[in-house]
Amino acid sequence: MTLTGLLLERIAQQGPISLADYMAECLLHPEYGYYTTRDPLGAAGDFTTAPEISQMFGELIGLALAQAWIDQGRPAPFTLAELGPGRGTLMSDALRATRAVPGLHAAARLWLVEASPVLRATQTQTLAGYAPQWCDTVGALPAQPLFLIANEFFDALPVRQFLRAGGGWRERLVGAREGVLHWGLGAEAPQPALAHRLEDTREGDLVELCPAAAPIITELASRIAAHGGGALIVDYGDWRSLGDTVQALRGHASADPLADPGQADLTAHVDFEQLAVAARAAGCAHSRLTAQGVFLERLGIAQRAQALARTADETMLNQLVAAHRRLTHPEEMGNLFKVLGLYPADATPPPGLES
Ligand code: SAH
Repeated sequence: MTLTGLLLERIAQQGPISLADYMAECLLHPEYGYYTTRDPLGAAGDFTTAPEISQMFGELIGLALAQAWIDQGRPAPFTLAELGPGRGTLMSDALRATRAVPGLHAAARLWLVEASPVLRATQTQTLAGYAPQWCDTVGALPAQPLFLIANEFFDALPVRQFLRAGGGWRERLVGAREGVLHWGLGAEAPQPALAHRLEDTREGDLVELCPAAAPIITELASRIAAHGGGALIVDYGDWRSLGDTVQALRGHASADPLADPGQADLTAHVDFEQLAVAARAAGCAHSRLTAQGVFLERLGIAQRAQALARTADETMLNQLVAAHRRLTHPEEMGNLFKVLGLYPADATPPPGLES
């Protein structure tokens, strides 16, 4: 059996499925899922991420979380957590950079929220020596101060898509035609979760909804509100997303999302407003949405690059210049990627962010 076969069977039995159901099967099916069966990162994989581009990214994130921990009176013990840690590179750079922060490592309990057994195995190696613990969901994190990073995690969560039709919406569905997966449209219906989008959309506009995101934010924001801490959420997207942002990536090139399910990475742009609203409802404050380039410059990426350049040979120097540019330049990752910080209502925002 293939995943296409399983999906066609399911569609034959129950009719067309939502895009979110389709994405969930493609990404996390226990046997055929994209993340469950491989390490997708790096040159040999399908995409690369900021921590894989340069150590500076994880170092600065680590120091920002450390400063937030100091600003809140160095609570101990506390949970240091990452959602979707990939190869563990970001966390490993963050931990190395914070070695000299007095008391931080002694107080930190490292938790990794990771769905992929393949990536858990890689993380075991990268983070050996830091005694990480793993869980499947944010709900399993201990009830104590929580300092958390999520880089390119929320874009991997399944989304539903809706086309504006009159005062309601028609959902985009995945069905089948002559044994091949095919796009379809559901009947017109109201969508209470999209009430706020009736203001800024017109007939035929497409909007996305990520049903899995709000419950995750609610869990982590209520921990931060109750026990202290903070979260840095870094991803591509904007305050409100408009239009079809779902993309399939295979071998660093874009692919048809319905071709070869389970073989390509499927992502959507993050609608940060949905995250911010859920955080506020759980009693957390959130920062202004900030471009990644601005955030990293405020944290001192240029100074860090200069410090690394002092001992670099020419090849390394060129790599440093290229990495700095790639992470911060508005035409590269600097503007497409955004940072949202969550923090207790009576605390200051994490470094690099404004209320
Ligand atoms: N943060 C890493 C990896 C990003 S890729 C980096 O920046 O390099 C997305 C990560 O999220 C992978 O580790 C993937 O296995 C994990 N992931 C995706 N969906 C998940 C889910 N629903 N629950 C837990 N982890 C998930």
